[in-house]
Amino acid sequence: MKNYRDRAVVMRSWPLGEADRIVEMYGMEAGKLRAVSKGVRGRRSRNSGLMQVTAEVDVMLWRGRDLDTLVQAALVRPNLVGPEIELDAYQAACELIETVDRLTPDRQPNPQIYRLLSTGLRMIAEEWSPFLLGSLLLRLLQLEGYAPLVGACSLCGRRDRLERFDFGSSSARCSDCGGEPVAPEVIAVVQRVLDARVREVLAQRPGPEAGGFEGLVARLVAEHAGRSLRSAGVRLTP
Ligand SMILES: [Zn+2]
Repeated sequence: MKNYRDRAVVMRSWPLGEADRIVEMYGMEAGKLRAVSKGVRGRRSRNSGLMQVTAEVDVMLWRGRDLDTLVQAALVRPNLVGPEIELDAYQAACELIETVDRLTPDRQPNPQIYRLLSTGLRMIAEEWSPFLLGSLLLRLLQLEGYAPLVGACSLCGRRDRLERFDFGSSSARCSDCGGEPVAPEVIAVVQRVLDARVREVLAQRPGPEAGGFEGLVARLVAEHAGRSLRSAGVRLTP
């Protein structure tokens, strides 16, 4: 049997030739995969109409060597575009999807990442907070094994005055041990998210640490995405 079924989040799509499209999605059981959706303009365009970025779909796919073929699709949850979603929420959804794309390998199923993507997109649409995107991206880093060390200074072990961060070792430092300055409140938010206390963070009244937290997580994502590209043998310089 080369046909298989899965539930998937649509990540992105691009044209293939005159009438077809390639759709990239994250399947609950198959992981990240790409499939050809045939006949965008033809009689079988019914499937393509459902395969919108951020939508959640039940799909039947024909397994190919590199590319699968979309046989059938049914909508589970429509895409997030529309008057009911704010622009910054839509941008956050795109950033979450792009980061999953950059950090996860093809065809390596991880149901926790599927759940993060599915639940994360719903939360972005329904319960916006300035801490939300950073929390989702940090959980993603943690699931991929890139959680920063923030419980104690990574050089001397002290647990107070954690006011620095060393991006080389991805760890917090105390004010004596050096590193880039970061507010202790930001380190505290990172710790809560890593302890799976995201609800608590989202309920928090946002202060100046919200921007610092988002900046720190963005920097961590950039560091690790760069490393995973290099380890995949992609040449970054000519
Ligand atoms: Zn120290």
